[in-house]
Amino acid sequence: MTRAARAGEVSTVTGPIGPEALGITLMHEHLLCDVTPPDLAAHGHPRIEVTLENVHAVRYGWVRHYGNHILDDVSTAAEEAALFREAGGGTIVDVTVAGIRPDPRGLKRITELSGVTVVAGTGYYIESFASEAIGTRSVDELAATMIADIRDGFEDTGIRAGIIGEIGVSDPWSEAERRVMQAAVIAQQATGATITVHPGRDSESPLAVARFVRSAGGDTSRLVIGHLDRTLFETDEVLRLLDQGVVGEWDFFGIESSYYPFALIDLPNDGRRLELIRAALAAGFGEQIVISHDICTITRLSRWGGHGYGHIPRDVVAMMRRKSFSEPEIRRILVANPARLLTLA
Ligand SMILES: [Zn+2]
Repeated sequence: MTRAARAGEVSTVTGPIGPEALGITLMHEHLLCDVTPPDLAAHGHPRIEVTLENVHAVRYGWVRHYGNHILDDVSTAAEEAALFREAGGGTIVDVTVAGIRPDPRGLKRITELSGVTVVAGTGYYIESFASEAIGTRSVDELAATMIADIRDGFEDTGIRAGIIGEIGVSDPWSEAERRVMQAAVIAQQATGATITVHPGRDSESPLAVARFVRSAGGDTSRLVIGHLDRTLFETDEVLRLLDQGVVGEWDFFGIESSYYPFALIDLPNDGRRLELIRAALAAGFGEQIVISHDICTITRLSRWGGHGYGHIPRDVVAMMRRKSFSEPEIRRILVANPARLLTLA
């Protein structure tokens, strides 16, 4: 069994490594998960079989098809991770936490099969998924589990987490979810790990999370607010958030459709994401930007006709160059910022 990572090191599922070894890093992905909406899971449907005839319908209406949200095959996941490596990628952060079926042993196997470095998250997803795991546990009990996952490993696996989250926040933010966030701050103080957050769908949620973490004594420079793609649409909203010192994450890269089933909003495409990122760079927030795909459905994997984990190194980097992002800017977003955030403080 490997030892725990120390300050200055990154805690991967196969043990501690130096931050310079990470390479291009995807900060918010799921290699193995089950994010089936609870109401869909309750109906007891058979799993969808994706064919050329239905792949568009399943991809477009992604919440309506049971099985699309279940990533549970280790060898498929390893093949998909290998495509990321072949495109120039180095590290995938799997932020699958309690409530959406984390599988640390599976993640370790994926690293061994694919050669991709994997960092695992610890914590609790939104209450509608994780209510059983959160239960009536106290802030200290919840914090103790997260700290143990980072220091000693998940249960008896000897496989350790390296980041806290994705921590789920709903709109409105529930009492149980606030308890979890408070616990995440304690775990951050104890371990030096970064907290990564799934905010509520309300545009005020990212700011509320930033203020909550600061007032609880957390380090907001090590706080990543994810899913900005479906939460903040205007430049001034983005700059107002980054002004809080947090890291903004655009993690829907590869979703080029405006349709979003959970709310009446128009999702941006990759071009619009890069426009907002360009504005954040111009305003001097270059150290506070990370990107990812948040893959959690089979139709986004290459095997079922999707873009796969290789989309950012293969396609988005090319688009950034075409849009005159400099090489240092690209490196900062894809390599340096993730390396800093994944290094235990
Ligand atoms: Zn996610």
